[in-house]
Amino acid sequence: LKSDFAALAPMPDDPILGLVELFKKDPRETKVNLGVGVYLNEAGFLPLMECVEEAERRLLERHLPRGYMPMSGMPQYCASVQKLVFGKDHAAVKAGRISTIQTLGGTGALQLAAAFAHQFLGVNQGVVSDPTWGNHIAILKADGLEVGKYAYLKADRSGIDFEAFKAALNALPAKTLVLLHGCCHNPTGFDFSHDEWREVVKILVERDLLPLIDMAYQGFGAGLEEDAFAIRLLADEGVTFLAATSCSKNFGLYGERVGALHIVCDNEKEAQVVTSIMKRIVRQEYSNPPTHGGQIVAEVLGDPELQASWRKEVEGMRSRIVGMREALYAAGKAEGLDFSFAVKQHGMFSFTGLSAEEMDLLREKYGVYGVRNGRICIAGLNHRNVEYVAKSLAAVFKAR
Ligand code: PLP
Repeated sequence: LKSDFAALAPMPDDPILGLVELFKKDPRETKVNLGVGVYLNEAGFLPLMECVEEAERRLLERHLPRGYMPMSGMPQYCASVQKLVFGKDHAAVKAGRISTIQTLGGTGALQLAAAFAHQFLGVNQGVVSDPTWGNHIAILKADGLEVGKYAYLKADRSGIDFEAFKAALNALPAKTLVLLHGCCHNPTGFDFSHDEWREVVKILVERDLLPLIDMAYQGFGAGLEEDAFAIRLLADEGVTFLAATSCSKNFGLYGERVGALHIVCDNEKEAQVVTSIMKRIVRQEYSNPPTHGGQIVAEVLGDPELQASWRKEVEGMRSRIVGMREALYAAGKAEGLDFSFAVKQHGMFSFTGLSAEEMDLLREKYGVYGVRNGRICIAGLNHRNVEYVAKSLAAVFKAR
C-alpha cells in the first residue's frame, strides 16, 4: 500500500526548543540556560504560585463537575480579567463596551484576533515590530494576512528608533492591523515611554489603523497597573481596538492555556455583536475553552484576600527580575563594561546586542545559552550564576 504521507519532509525544530535539547546534553556544571521563556525563581525553578495552590485546594473541595464552558469562556473569568487589564473602574468597563472572551493562552487570543480581523473586518495586511516574537508572524500569516515589519530598534540595538518607527507607521495604508507589544517587548525589552505611547495613539487614530496590543507579561515590567498603560490609554481615547492578554506568566499557568481576547468597541450593543461573532469563530475552531485554568484565575481574582496575595507574589517576581538586571549591570561594571542595556529594558527578556555568531561563542565556549538573535532571559539569572554570566558576556564582548 502506498502511504499518503511518504512525500512529506520534516519541519525544522523550533530554535528555542532546540536549545533546550542542547542544554540538557551539555555536561558542564557551570552551564546556564537563558534561552527559556519562563520565569525561574532564585533557586532556578519554575515555581507553583502559592495563590494558585490555594485556589486549587478550594476548587477541589467543591467537587465541581466538568461540563462544557460557554464558547466565550467562564463569565467570572472574563469579567475579572477585563478589570485586571483595563482597571476595575474604567469607563469602558462600566459602559460594557469591551467584548472579552477566554482564550487558549495569549497565543490563542492572537490567533482569534487575526481570524476576526481578516474574516469580519476585511483586513488583509498586518505589521509587526522588527524584531518581534517569532510566532507573531506565523500566526498572522496562518490567518491569511500578509505580514510586514515596522522599524523598531536603533541600528546599534541600544534602544527604540522612535523617529523611524513613527515614519513606518505613517506610511501604512488605512485598515492595516498593527501588532504592538503592550509592555515588556519580546525579544528586546525596550518599551515606549508614556509620552511616546501618546504619540503612537495619535498616529494610529489619524491613519485609521487597527491596533492589536499583545500584553503577555502584565506585572513583569513596571507593575500590574503601570504595564497596562498603553491599553488603558487607547480605551481612554475612545479608540476601537483589540488586545490579547495572557495568564501564562503572571499566574505561572503556562501549561493550562489561559488567556483573553478583548475587543474594545464603541458601545455596548457593538460589543454584544462582536461577542456573538467571536463565539461563532470559537465554535468552529475548538468549540469552548478548558475549565481548570480559567477557574483558578477566577478564584484568585474573585477573592479580595487571594487577589492581594497574588499581587504580592507577582510583585515579588517583578522585583527579582529588576534585581537581577541591576546585578548583571553591576557585574558588567566590575568587568569594565557598560551593561546598561540590562537596566534600561523591561520584563523577562534582554537584548544583549550580540550577533548570532557571538551567541554561538557564548554557548560553545562558556555554556551560557541564549537565543541566536541576542536575547537572554533575565529570569534565568540568580545570585549564583549572575557573575559567571557577566564574565562570559564580557569575554565575548572583549573578543570583538
Ligand atoms: N506574546 C508574546 C510576546 C509572548 O512572548 C508569548 C509567550 O511567550 C505569548 C504572546 C503567548 O503566550 P501564551 O500563549 O503562552 O499565553
